[in-house]
Amino acid sequence: MISSRGACIFCDGAVKDIFDKDMQNVPQNCTMVESAHEQGAFMPFNLQKCNACDTYQTKYLADLGILYSSNHYVPFGALRQEMISLFSEFVCQDQPSAILEIGGGNGELFTALAKSLTSLHYTIVDPAYIGPRSDNLTVVDGFYEDVKGIDCGTVVMSHVFEHFYDPVAIINKMQKEGVQTIYLCHPDYDAYVAKESITFNVLHCEHTFYISNAGLISLFEKHGFNMIRYQHHRGYSVFFEFSSGIGDNGITGQYIPRAQVSQDDACEQYIYTLVSRAEYLNTILANTNGRDVYMWPCSIHSTILFAYGLRHQGIKGMLDNSLFKIGKNTYGHNIPCFSFDKVVTNRSEDEADIIIVINGGCFTRELNIGEKANIEFIL
Ligand SMILES: [Zn+2]
Repeated sequence: MISSRGACIFCDGAVKDIFDKDMQNVPQNCTMVESAHEQGAFMPFNLQKCNACDTYQTKYLADLGILYSSNHYVPFGALRQEMISLFSEFVCQDQPSAILEIGGGNGELFTALAKSLTSLHYTIVDPAYIGPRSDNLTVVDGFYEDVKGIDCGTVVMSHVFEHFYDPVAIINKMQKEGVQTIYLCHPDYDAYVAKESITFNVLHCEHTFYISNAGLISLFEKHGFNMIRYQHHRGYSVFFEFSSGIGDNGITGQYIPRAQVSQDDACEQYIYTLVSRAEYLNTILANTNGRDVYMWPCSIHSTILFAYGLRHQGIKGMLDNSLFKIGKNTYGHNIPCFSFDKVVTNRSEDEADIIIVINGGCFTRELNIGEKANIEFIL
């Protein structure tokens, strides 16, 4: 069932809609489907701001059964691999012997940690785990909110916390169940909304809130966890270690935001950047001179722009190098995904002229696009 929010999920303060009118027909899922004829499920879309704590949230929430109906967690790319490796080192610094991972996805973090921590007992709670199995791994099939009785003092989460509809309830549950240490790998939202690296992966059907890094630390502190250390990773993620109660060496409230952006309005400026990006791209679509238009990457980084008014009918295809995506279609809009290498990297000079819209934000530097006479890149 689609639901809507009435108050701030962090402080229960009053919220105000950002857009006077709800947007309509936004897909309730951002994964891929096999058939171009598959009917998707849609919902309205709007954003809300809490003036009391300066956070943002989506007004409408997708049906969880539709949103996570299939595990699409097959990430791809060098930046992602590097993040897993560095976050694993960050966790291993304390040599935990038992770990509970919430949302283990494809098991990439478990695999990395199990290599370094030899006598590790690992539990994954995930409603759709698709990773490797092992003797020292227990997989609990379900949502963490509903699972009871896991006795583990150490929790890890990697790009999961931002998916919770009620993040405060999750922190309170961990506190109540005796969790002592939380290792959190979280999107670097300060960097995502900063002008220099606008990354469109904030505030959509899966990432339903925006909170600054400093705000995130305050939130955990308010609910009983002090920040012990943090580490930035290339404007993509921030790793945090939180400790229950008053930590022995607890460093509290000293976090320095990565970019000295004004936290007050950076997110609001970001939201209007998406509006103007969609408007700008519509002018490109209206003046193609017969050229096909593609978008990279094939993910929410591109498709979120359809919610903001970008005409998806004008897009010939999405581009990606993930084998999980090539040959499939985007959920809801049914736009086919083609191989980036085939369409771009290996494009020969006698092929037709095309336009490629690049929406990768912090991932764009992974691309090695060079210059091609028959491709116009729109950054
Ligand atoms: Zn609030």
